[in-house]
Amino acid sequence: SLCRTPDAVQSFLEGLYQSCRELRGGKVADYIPELAKVDPNLFGICLVTADGQVFEVGDTAHLFTIQSISKVFVQGLALEDHGRDYVLARVGVEPTGDAFNAIILDEASKRPYNPMVNAGAIATTSLIAGDGPTERLNRLLNMFRRYVGHDIVVDVATYVSERATGDRNRAMAYLMRHFKMVDWDIEEALDLYFQQCSVMVSCRDLAVMAATLANQGVNPMTGDRAVEAGYVRDMLSVMYTCGMYNFAGEWAYRVGLPAKSGVCGGIIAVVPDQLGIAVFSPPLDGRGNSVRGVRVCEAISQEFGLHLFDSS
Ligand code: GLU
Repeated sequence: SLCRTPDAVQSFLEGLYQSCRELRGGKVADYIPELAKVDPNLFGICLVTADGQVFEVGDTAHLFTIQSISKVFVQGLALEDHGRDYVLARVGVEPTGDAFNAIILDEASKRPYNPMVNAGAIATTSLIAGDGPTERLNRLLNMFRRYVGHDIVVDVATYVSERATGDRNRAMAYLMRHFKMVDWDIEEALDLYFQQCSVMVSCRDLAVMAATLANQGVNPMTGDRAVEAGYVRDMLSVMYTCGMYNFAGEWAYRVGLPAKSGVCGGIIAVVPDQLGIAVFSPPLDGRGNSVRGVRVCEAISQEFGLHLFDSS
């Protein structure tokens, strides 16, 4: 589907890996102590096609916490639990141009702007159905398991670190509670959010998750459905307009693919019906996106003509 032989795809990725290794800019996220411990030299690229072919180079098996990339998948679960109208009444779909951690709600509706910024993600997490915190966590973890195709765990050290330093997120959550936009106990919602950010994945896992979205919600490696097909459109639309923090517009212009990044240094991008892309490299630029990750995705999009609005 990439119009190249598998060998040609693999050698392109290897060349790209070597050239992007030279990029030394950026800074590892350190606002949560546990994140600051990551080795900045780790670097992996993985492509998984919608029919399950895998191409990978570098540190694609190294485990790290998923961070903001979780927001996409939790949005999918909230949509399954409540439907489009209900979720839209609680969380908007408007890009902000503000930083991911801005404490800001829409003036008129009191909704957070979108599910990809922290305020919106906390609101989305508070929509996950379940009888009590354990059942909600299990439903969330099972959802991630369907996307990766194997067991996953929460990194307790990161979770504790997030919780101990999460006052900014706490402030957003309390503001939303003030406006009656969150139903259950706010500390419980935050706890679930901190746990979801601390789910451990590899670059290869992320590529399979992205490929599952490319494959209309069915994991191409296991054949299991991870999310209802009808909601993939919702998820990809919000990724396209809001997925790359306050770089989303320029990303759409240059790379032209729905994508999501996280402060872990991961980025996923989706080519509908074709391909999932994942890159992992912890040093971040000023907007919180992986320096090498942005460059790699731009190069892959160019090489294979993947920009959604390429005419060919
Ligand atoms: N754990 C992070 C936070 O909410 C997620 C940030 C991100 O990856 O953008 O502070």
